[in-house]
Amino acid sequence: MSDKKYHIWTAGCQMNVADSRRLGSSLEHLGYAFTDQAKEADVLVLNTCVVRQSAEDKALGFLHSIRPLKEKNPDLVINLMGCLVGVKGAEKLQKKLPFVDVFSPPSDPGPLIAHLTQDDDYVAETNVTQNRFAIMDGEIIIPEHERGKLTSAYIPVVYGCSHACTYCIIPYQRGIERSRPLGEIVAEARSLATQGVKEITLLGQIVDRYGKDVEDGPNLADLLRILNDVEGLERIRFLTSHPNYFGVDIMRAVADLDKVMPHFEVPIQAGDDDVLENMKRGYTQNDYRELIAQIRAEVPNCSIATDIIVGFPGETDEQFENTYTLLADLKMDVAHLARYSPRKGTVSERRMEDDVPDKIKRERFHRLEALQKTIATEINARLLGETVPVFFEEKVKGRWRGRTPTNKLVFVETDDDLRGKVVDVRITWTGPWSMQAQLLNQPVTPIVLS
Ligand code: SAH
Repeated sequence: MSDKKYHIWTAGCQMNVADSRRLGSSLEHLGYAFTDQAKEADVLVLNTCVVRQSAEDKALGFLHSIRPLKEKNPDLVINLMGCLVGVKGAEKLQKKLPFVDVFSPPSDPGPLIAHLTQDDDYVAETNVTQNRFAIMDGEIIIPEHERGKLTSAYIPVVYGCSHACTYCIIPYQRGIERSRPLGEIVAEARSLATQGVKEITLLGQIVDRYGKDVEDGPNLADLLRILNDVEGLERIRFLTSHPNYFGVDIMRAVADLDKVMPHFEVPIQAGDDDVLENMKRGYTQNDYRELIAQIRAEVPNCSIATDIIVGFPGETDEQFENTYTLLADLKMDVAHLARYSPRKGTVSERRMEDDVPDKIKRERFHRLEALQKTIATEINARLLGETVPVFFEEKVKGRWRGRTPTNKLVFVETDDDLRGKVVDVRITWTGPWSMQAQLLNQPVTPIVLS
């Protein structure tokens, strides 16, 4: 065992969190130990995101902040990974960033492992169509510093994306859609369960397309049915779904399967048909309304989250009002909001002018945020006084943090060890973004009405 250390800085989506954990797992297999201090590392990985300019700026900022470490220690291996690198080769970046030793596409530990082991076979394994993990596929070993503590984990099930939403850079950076083989996913779920993981979240840019890129492949509903039988798992979630692929088979699987939680992430992006057309989303706002109604009918008491971009090129006040009205009508549980950010090389960046002033983007963002706060306050208040099974993950600042089946954040103060447990609790306070609860065996304190 060597005493070499690795550090991974991770930005962006859940997929990156999953990729970093896998990379950590691969590095520990080679004998590296985790450190939470970038300056102590022999191998320093930056797993990056470029979905909006702010994410790209953050990655470049961190990269430049670690440059002096390389100057001090030329043996330090710096690995730039993820969406800043993309799948199309890194020649340009290599010239701009000579102090970076290794460039890796998203979800791909191959180049770093090859560099560290001087074994080109690892590189040969990784290309856009295949892009499989060189080692330990289906048998992920949780990195040591998280072992025994990690109770909820992500499992990528579809890599890449073949859609062409005009604003989105992800298909360019993550490559074409590739579903992972079912057996590999199930093996990974089992392996995680034997290491103490109780909840898994299946990931894909368009997770409801799982298997649709393979002829006669299993679909997401099939996958959920098989995973529901994995021993040791208590909860299964999946994200992100695209409205066009969200079939009734998935709704029924969720309604039927006891471990699959009734929470959906189905972005609308805009509530105006012309904006949706310009985004090339492939549905109308009315299609979306019907889908939401159908999901709610098939899966009673479910929760649904959406994503909305404000200030897409050409978005008029009237078009924005349509988005506002849609959100007010549909009353989603969660709305992830973003201001449009032109991404180099995307269709909207090349062909449409970013003509909504930043001030207006911010105003629209704040109006939707205020609306969502009212909606979420109202929805969450319905849980006040109810008894709900909550899955607890970790203690944060003296309070246990957990999630209801509908993915609502719950805090409980107790000395009991709740890690990795599903416990019935009584909700004593609710707000727009979280709630508080008591264990049933705790003395009842009066409910605070706020
Ligand atoms: N694959 C998912 C989400 C991917 S990115 C989907 O298809 O919906 C996560 C969110 O970032 C998107 O849902 C979108 O709301 C936002 N986003 C993507 N590109 C953006 C851009 N150029 N500007 C602002 N927000 C963006």
